[in-house]
Amino acid sequence: MGGVFGICSNNECVTDLFFGTDYHSHLGTRWGGMAVFDGKQYTRVIHNIENAPFRTKFESDIPEMKGFMGIGCISDSNLQPIIINSRIGTFAVVTVGRINNKDELARQLTSENNVYFFEISGGSINDTELVASLICRKDNIPDGIKYAQRKIEGSMTMLISADGGLYAARDRLGRTPLFVGEKDNGEDGYCASFESFSYINLGYKTCHELGPGEIVFITPDKMTSVSGPLDKMKMCTFLWLYYGFPTSDYEGVNVEEMRYKCGQSMATQDIADGTGVKADYIAGIPDSGTPHAIGYANQSKIPFARPLIKYTPTWPRSFTPKDQSIRNLIARMKLIPISALIKNKKLLFVEDSIVRGTQLRGMMDELFSYGAKELHGRIACPPILYDCKYLNFTRSLIENEAITRKSIIKLEVADSIGDSRLAPYADPESKQYRNMVEDIRKELNFTTLKYHSLHSMLRSVGIDKCRLCTYCWNGKE
Ligand code: SF4
Repeated sequence: MGGVFGICSNNECVTDLFFGTDYHSHLGTRWGGMAVFDGKQYTRVIHNIENAPFRTKFESDIPEMKGFMGIGCISDSNLQPIIINSRIGTFAVVTVGRINNKDELARQLTSENNVYFFEISGGSINDTELVASLICRKDNIPDGIKYAQRKIEGSMTMLISADGGLYAARDRLGRTPLFVGEKDNGEDGYCASFESFSYINLGYKTCHELGPGEIVFITPDKMTSVSGPLDKMKMCTFLWLYYGFPTSDYEGVNVEEMRYKCGQSMATQDIADGTGVKADYIAGIPDSGTPHAIGYANQSKIPFARPLIKYTPTWPRSFTPKDQSIRNLIARMKLIPISALIKNKKLLFVEDSIVRGTQLRGMMDELFSYGAKELHGRIACPPILYDCKYLNFTRSLIENEAITRKSIIKLEVADSIGDSRLAPYADPESKQYRNMVEDIRKELNFTTLKYHSLHSMLRSVGIDKCRLCTYCWNGKE
């Protein structure tokens, strides 16, 4: 996915920019970047962060960077920030999102407007440079942002440093969040951020959460509206379920609290329909399943325990190499079992979601080899059936590698499966759904397996369900 952060201040801002951007490290694993403006020029630094955290990579750059205004990003897809010198001025941009009509837009820009693209990586045009080129089609930055928002299919949230301040623009359907924070009631500058917690320790307080498609302009002294929020919203539900950091609030709903509610709701459902198990312990698959498991344990009154512990001293962050076998090896090395909490025990594990399931299968086999008597699985969201087409995150690569798709292909005795045949598998009342879940249960070696229903998961978020994106579970736009 990725995250963005920006600062506009009367004072030196590099330290705040550095920490604020670093606090988005859980959202991406490939690139980190910062650009800072000192009133005359931009200084930009970009590093690959696949093998070392953002902080380690950028620490030595900090003394060289000076300025009172800057933007930063963590990105899985693009080298950014992009700095553009154009007829509407020099500006810097960072983005988070995905452009589905990229080829068409690039063709239009190159053929009709004689535009060049410089930042080509992996044979593909840089999304952020494409956004910058779209902005330059208009006579000023605000009109350019609105034009880019209209032209882009997909989802694109952006921060633009220009005109002596910072433009913050949320994507048109609000799939990703965007906040403005103020320091000393606006006396000491403003920041703009994907995550609402990233500026708290820097002394800022939230003063505004942007609505879908909304654009604001911040200067060191004030925030002004450029374009108001649109009515329709489809915010990514996965932010609460997995992606967002526990201390973040979106739409007034805290991430950690939503996860407890998810666990409570699954336990309540198990008790109501008689599928609860007499487990010795409730446990989370570390770390993302843990808050869901705490909620389940509190509600079921079965003790919470940690039979698997993540070795954090040398694995401080989510490192995701592209090679699946290396990922599996790292996942296994990170987790260490506690035999005393496993041997002869009946354990119920809660996980936020299952995509491929390969690591989960390895984990269950290992737990049985340590003498576990029963291993039950409860998943905090419904089966993931559809490929996310709105945000650029690793799950979008897995369409036919997802365990659900593999199971359906097996059950349908087909070579592949198109979206048009998936609807019955999204319906928990259907025979197809039951057969798929049973097949996944066997595949992952669980004693019992249940997924949270879509209805109950959305109720755990607690905002109007029409304002939440559920596409990856039910294929509905
Ligand atoms: S399809 Fe899923 S992951 Fe993608 S935006 Fe919607 S809820 Fe989020």
